[in-house]
Amino acid sequence: DLRPSEMKPRAPSRPPSKSRNSSVNGRGVSASDFTFGRQLGQGSYSSVMYAKSVSTGEEYAIKVIDKGHLKRKDKTHIAQAERNTLVKLGSGHPGIVRLHSTFQDNWSLYFVLDLARNGELQSRISNLGSLSLPCARYYTAQIVDTLGYIHSKGVLHRDLKPENVLLDDNFRVKICDFGTGKILGDSDRAATFVGTPQYVSPELLERNETTKSSDYWALGCIVYQMISGKFAFHGLSDYLTLEKIKKIDYSFPEGFDEEAKDLVQKFLIRDPAQRLGAGPPGSPNDVRALRSHPFFASINWATLWSDPAPPFE
Ligand code: ATP
Repeated sequence: DLRPSEMKPRAPSRPPSKSRNSSVNGRGVSASDFTFGRQLGQGSYSSVMYAKSVSTGEEYAIKVIDKGHLKRKDKTHIAQAERNTLVKLGSGHPGIVRLHSTFQDNWSLYFVLDLARNGELQSRISNLGSLSLPCARYYTAQIVDTLGYIHSKGVLHRDLKPENVLLDDNFRVKICDFGTGKILGDSDRAATFVGTPQYVSPELLERNETTKSSDYWALGCIVYQMISGKFAFHGLSDYLTLEKIKKIDYSFPEGFDEEAKDLVQKFLIRDPAQRLGAGPPGSPNDVRALRSHPFFASINWATLWSDPAPPFE
């Protein structure tokens, strides 16, 4: 096992100092309460490490964020946004990586998160080329259900992509990375596009605007990708990809399931207000209408989080 002092690549080169605790649950927690293991992933400002609680043996993923790097890049607000949105979302839905506690030492911020042992949805799509229809349907339904909860709490994700859709022990969805998340009504510093261009919505590109509807745009791109194995919008350069998004220039490969096609077409439309799932309750494109779409006819929403996941194929 790696101790925190040995974490790579951006972890402190010294042992953790006496940590300042700012735990979510109010208890004093520090790095010495965990045995750290392998690196599970890496983001722009963080390493995510496997960790086990010394006292309970419970396993977690701990996101270790380099404070110096955040400060140098003027990105402290990203860690704050992630913490605030995760606290707001709490433990109210199985499809979200839950934040158990946070603490810090001189060099790093530590977020103690649910462990999603089966990695990223992206890796499954890459390994298989594309997903079977039952598989794509199941993951789409779990994302729809989770987004419904996230939005009902007044939170936008704003960086939904298959790398941020993680899989737990039972291959169920755990959405992570709320670093560009936003709590509606809060002031906003993150509404400019950074990162992967493939899932960004036309309204963000053209008007710097995001609403919950932009998360459904991203979902449309994800559904397309799960079924076809290709990005909906992809040019030879990021610039050309963004041009395609602005023009909504995409097409379906032959044999793409008709109901899935109809669903994607109802997500990938220019007017955010018209997108399926984004309308106010009672409107023809509200969340209920989305859940009643024929693509989901075989989904039992009541048992979605207890039914076994279909095999990956
Ligand atoms: P980005 O620079 O892409 O915004 P980030 O710094 O916000 O990334 P995350 O996306 O939260 O970091 O995490 C990076 C990677 O670490 C994830 O894509 C995933 O592979 C892994 N990871 C994150 N959280 C967990 C978790 N709870 N369980 C297992 N692996 C995780």
